[in-house]
Amino acid sequence: MNNFQYKNPTKILFGKGQMVNLAEEIPNDAKILMLYGGGSIKKNGIYKQVKEALLDNEVLEFGGISPNPEYCILLKALEIIKTENIDYLLAVGGGSVIDATKFLSGAAYYEGDTPWDLVTQNKPVTKGMPYGTVLTLPATGSEMNSGAVITRAETKEKLSMGGPALFPQFSVLDPQVVSSIPQRQLANGIADAYTHVLEQYMTYPIGAMLQDRYAESILQTLIEVAPAIQKDPSDYEAAANFMWSCTMALNGLIQQGVPSDWSIHAIGHELTALYGIDHARTLAIILPGHYTYNFENKKEKLAQYAERVWAVKEGSIEEKAKAGIKKTEEFFYSLGIDTKLSDYTDEYADTASTISKRFADRGWNGLGERKDITPADVEKIVAMNY
Ligand code: NAP
Ligand code: FE
Repeated sequence: MNNFQYKNPTKILFGKGQMVNLAEEIPNDAKILMLYGGGSIKKNGIYKQVKEALLDNEVLEFGGISPNPEYCILLKALEIIKTENIDYLLAVGGGSVIDATKFLSGAAYYEGDTPWDLVTQNKPVTKGMPYGTVLTLPATGSEMNSGAVITRAETKEKLSMGGPALFPQFSVLDPQVVSSIPQRQLANGIADAYTHVLEQYMTYPIGAMLQDRYAESILQTLIEVAPAIQKDPSDYEAAANFMWSCTMALNGLIQQGVPSDWSIHAIGHELTALYGIDHARTLAIILPGHYTYNFENKKEKLAQYAERVWAVKEGSIEEKAKAGIKKTEEFFYSLGIDTKLSDYTDEYADTASTISKRFADRGWNGLGERKDITPADVEKIVAMNY
């Protein structure tokens, strides 16, 4: 097992009706900017619950944050934070609103030329305005981690940022919010969380027994709750297990002491930036080709995964490993998610070379747990998923 230092400062308020405790988590004299997305919270009652919980606080609002939060929109929110002397942020939404809030938290205190530096400078953000979240969509784990992904439409870029200052102070996780989530987003949430676990697990064996078992148990739980949650999103027990699995998939715990990959996300972000494909679906497109292309490096773990998660007991290491890839692809299909780029766009012919060139231009010359996946490899991986 590798050395590690682990600290996760986010307080979780989990369960039915936790919203009533919201005000206790925020200083009484804070001037709050509440951030939200395209309006789902006004239809499903979450907006009203938040406003009622914060009746005695000073709360300004900024709505209209898009999925794949867009830099230009965030600059407008930043303007309000500065002109109104906001000192506390509250994200009410899914990963996009929470990521947007993380960016704003860092941008509010950033003193350099342009806040876009925070996204491109590749330095951990160490100063941020305090914020909390009310999660409305289990998927990303953003509610309990310090990373964010920000999009800039004018340059078709989607890039990650983060740092120790960007953990939420608290997150309210009430599984009842799941009941209003559309089927498409439920499928996305399951697939995103599932792939988060695999990015931290499907590497080379390092003898981290507990991390492996944690990862496998999250995968098994997601597989088990998927049909129940898709059949009836108001099934509270299924929703609670779904929600906590998504948080545990990316709150840092299973990543400690083990190598992690993250190339599926790095490549997937480009597909969202280029074609607007939902984040989770880009992962389902890239994953099978990535594991097939890097089979030799990953086969032992793939075989362990097939055996322990999918109960594949027969065959050689190679046969089990191949079965693991097939089972994963079938799982995505079972959620209603297609795994070929051509299922989403007809304009895919130059995608592989475009992404490869972008990575080379950025100096991303070694992705994956061994840092050996070159832009030329990326080109081949992407082309396998046409
Ligand atoms: P999202 O983009 O936050 O939301 C997707 C859609 O779901 C929105 O249209 C939203 O509508 C709707 N929605 C949310 N909650 C709802 C509810 N309770 N009922 C009905 N509709 C609801 O989706 P996401 O998958 O959570 O976030 C995706 C983003 O997170 C991507 O940009 C991805 O790259 C990023 N990401 C971040 C991390 C991380 O660790 N930070 C990890 C993985 C991915 P409204 O806009 O109307 O609310
Ligand atoms: Fe993700």
